[in-house]
Amino acid sequence: MKITVNDTLLDLHNGARVRDAIAGFYKHEGRKVPERLPVAEDRYGNIVAPDGALTDGNALFILSGRKKRTRLIRLLVVILAAGLLFACSSTRHAATSPDMKKQGSTTVAAPAGTVAPDDRQAVIFSVNDMHAAIDNFPKLAWIVDSLRSVYPNLLLIAAGDNQTGNPVNDQFPEKGFPVIDLMNAVGFNLSAVGNHEFDTGPEGFGNLISKADFSFICANVSGGGRHPLKIDPYKIITLPNGLKVAFLGLLQLGQNGIPDSHPDNVRDFVFRSPCETALEYLWLKDSSDVFIALTHIGFEEDVKLAETMPPGIDLIIGGHSHTRVDREQVHNGILITQADSKLKFGTLIRLKVDAAGRVTRSMQLIDIRNSKKEKPEIRSMVDRYNDNPVLNQAIATATDDFSSYEELGYLMADGQRAAAGADIALMNPGGVRIDRLPKGPVTIKNVYQLDPFGNELVVTKLTGSEIFSLLRAAWSADRKSPLFTSGITTETRVNDHGEPEEITVHTDDGKPLDLNHVYSVAMNSYMTQVYRYEHADPGQSLFLTTAQALIGYLKQEGNIKSYRGEKRVRVTR
Ligand SMILES: [Zn+2]
Repeated sequence: MKITVNDTLLDLHNGARVRDAIAGFYKHEGRKVPERLPVAEDRYGNIVAPDGALTDGNALFILSGRKKRTRLIRLLVVILAAGLLFACSSTRHAATSPDMKKQGSTTVAAPAGTVAPDDRQAVIFSVNDMHAAIDNFPKLAWIVDSLRSVYPNLLLIAAGDNQTGNPVNDQFPEKGFPVIDLMNAVGFNLSAVGNHEFDTGPEGFGNLISKADFSFICANVSGGGRHPLKIDPYKIITLPNGLKVAFLGLLQLGQNGIPDSHPDNVRDFVFRSPCETALEYLWLKDSSDVFIALTHIGFEEDVKLAETMPPGIDLIIGGHSHTRVDREQVHNGILITQADSKLKFGTLIRLKVDAAGRVTRSMQLIDIRNSKKEKPEIRSMVDRYNDNPVLNQAIATATDDFSSYEELGYLMADGQRAAAGADIALMNPGGVRIDRLPKGPVTIKNVYQLDPFGNELVVTKLTGSEIFSLLRAAWSADRKSPLFTSGITTETRVNDHGEPEEITVHTDDGKPLDLNHVYSVAMNSYMTQVYRYEHADPGQSLFLTTAQALIGYLKQEGNIKSYRGEKRVRVTR
């Protein structure tokens, strides 16, 4: 897909993230990718997180140091304002506290007492892209309780991607259950379906839906074959004050027409364009007082949705791009919010409906991460999950000792090749983080020690000659040593300067690599973004980390064969 960074057009693999785009930009400029990635904004001036998802045509701008500082100050103001709010909200008198009135700003939630007698209001606290950041749940719970003491009918809403990103949750025997258990305990009212909700497979997702005390909504998914999911397109919640609040769920689709999850997970479902689907549900505005699109399509797509919609939608609560919307973003009269990711922030939204049915809205970004207080009951739940021996659980048995980066590199490449069903897999030596693994049980923790980066598995279609170009590019980019391989063997003859003079490649059947044949090649997303080599196909992410791919492979293998003395890559002088 095409992404612009500071007006430079980059061709990135499908499923690339913000960090891939930034790395690609530095490479394009011929500069080293900084260890600490710079802050980037979208074209609307919102900060986007490094792990934010991108869609074709998105634009990013890397901020200069000066702009960054301004941002920091602005954020500090928000934190202080939030601190004031919660200092007040912990008491029942909060609604009339003079401190509250002093703030005066329109974006700060005004006390309930100032609502005109004929006005009715709905108050929402929304989060998105939690990605199983269960460690922030105790803080979230404390903030939600504080808000509920002021707004007893507060609606707690998630805009999707509750799942994936933390092995404690993702590898739990009942995959993904810790997040659902915690969402139940904190009292979520509703969740959108994010692409990563499908990561547990149709059966796993169905199980999680059945365990949730709240509903999942999504209007542009149907089907499911043997595993139809209990997902409603929309939900109308009637508040005790009689206000009807309608939520319509919408999910992103990648260029391949399916959400960003492993294709096997979504095979049985039918997906339709989120924008076209939204048009079919515009009647919801006549059945409700407030009409909200609860989307998981990314901020830039939310803006497109807002701009193409006839009047009706009052608010879009969005997710997917991990965008930090810290001030009011109104497009075509529709307020759009999103609160970064991983429970770092949440958005407090107030909607007032006057006697004539007019809706006024305000939003404020609330800092969850820096909250000094936690809810003890939720803390003990989280501690229990973190103590869980899941990570120490044996998933396979090594029949022999591994005693070098090379042996473990081959194992990783074999796992990636199997998970991707590819002809060839290539693994950069710098991505192999341990050089020893004793014979005996192999645990999930071992895999994350071996591969801690969270890179995704990408499959590209490369000709033999493009593979040669990749092998050469990798040599200088990665420690002046060859890539570890699966499916091919390589022999590299280097000159006196340590540069490759000649590379010979054979496939596993002993034949030389065919320069014109197209091979499917699996590798990690770091390699596709950082190596500069000739290739026509930018590749496709399988939306599976390389660690997850290896875990799946090891579980399937059960007994891991000996790699002792394995030699697939040779270097000669
Ligand atoms: Zn997403």
